Amino acid sequence: MFEIGDIRIHLINDGITHVDPGGAFGLVPRALWSRILQPDADGLVPMLNLNLYVEAGGKKIVVDTGLGHSIDPKMARITRIERPGGSLLDALARLGVAPADIDLVIDTHLHSDHCGGNMLVGADGQPRPAFPNAEYVVQRREYEDAMRPNERTAATYFPVNYQPLMESGQMRLLDGDSDLAQGVFGHVTRGHTPGHMSVRFESQGQHALFACDMACYAVHFERLGWMTAYDVEPLETLETKRKWQAWALETSAIIMFPHDSVRPVGIIRLDDNGKPTLQPIAVDFA
Ligand SMILES: [Zn+2]
Repeated sequence: MFEIGDIRIHLINDGITHVDPGGAFGLVPRALWSRILQPDADGLVPMLNLNLYVEAGGKKIVVDTGLGHSIDPKMARITRIERPGGSLLDALARLGVAPADIDLVIDTHLHSDHCGGNMLVGADGQPRPAFPNAEYVVQRREYEDAMRPNERTAATYFPVNYQPLMESGQMRLLDGDSDLAQGVFGHVTRGHTPGHMSVRFESQGQHALFACDMACYAVHFERLGWMTAYDVEPLETLETKRKWQAWALETSAIIMFPHDSVRPVGIIRLDDNGKPTLQPIAVDFA
């Protein structure tokens, strides 16, 4: 947990999967990325799935709902998932927070590793909201793209994660940058997807940013030209990162990277050679 003014931000490890580095590093040669992240014996690299539990202005907020509350055994085997702390709901329970207490769920985007925990499947096999009293928010553009997946995006856009919330009126669509709670702001950070959103926190002159997949790993924020192969608009990602990296240098904001198990949190500063470099911050997961 850390505080930004009077906002409390708890980090939740929803699980570490092991993935092909071709996805994580795209065009970056192995000789370069392997200096940052060592592949294991199978050639895979670890991928954290970071969610947040935030207390701001009297509201209880979840940012991204992770992989889901029960993982398909085949997927668990393929990705060799490590979930020492259980799922998002287990972490919330350790914090003394019941699902019914959550006021707001912010979906940064609708890829299944970020909103897989929006719903729970009941004993009757029917999906129901994991957070029954929460308003869920997502960018309208993201929802529309997720409802019309193409051959490249269909493997990660699963309507069961969001369509029932929309139909029941529990999900609200955002049109661009939005105030979401006291000191909590959603910003469209286009590139990973056209409707991708990052979440900015500001209180008492302090700043933080859940970059989400604008920069999956810290190195993607240090080096503007490095990006994942998952981005559907890579040149938009580049310009989005250029803008937000400059903001981070100016504000000394604490930045959170959703998939980096080694350096999930830190402050970016210029090193002696003028290169943006992350100073990691040691953090505990809830
Ligand atoms: Zn992601």
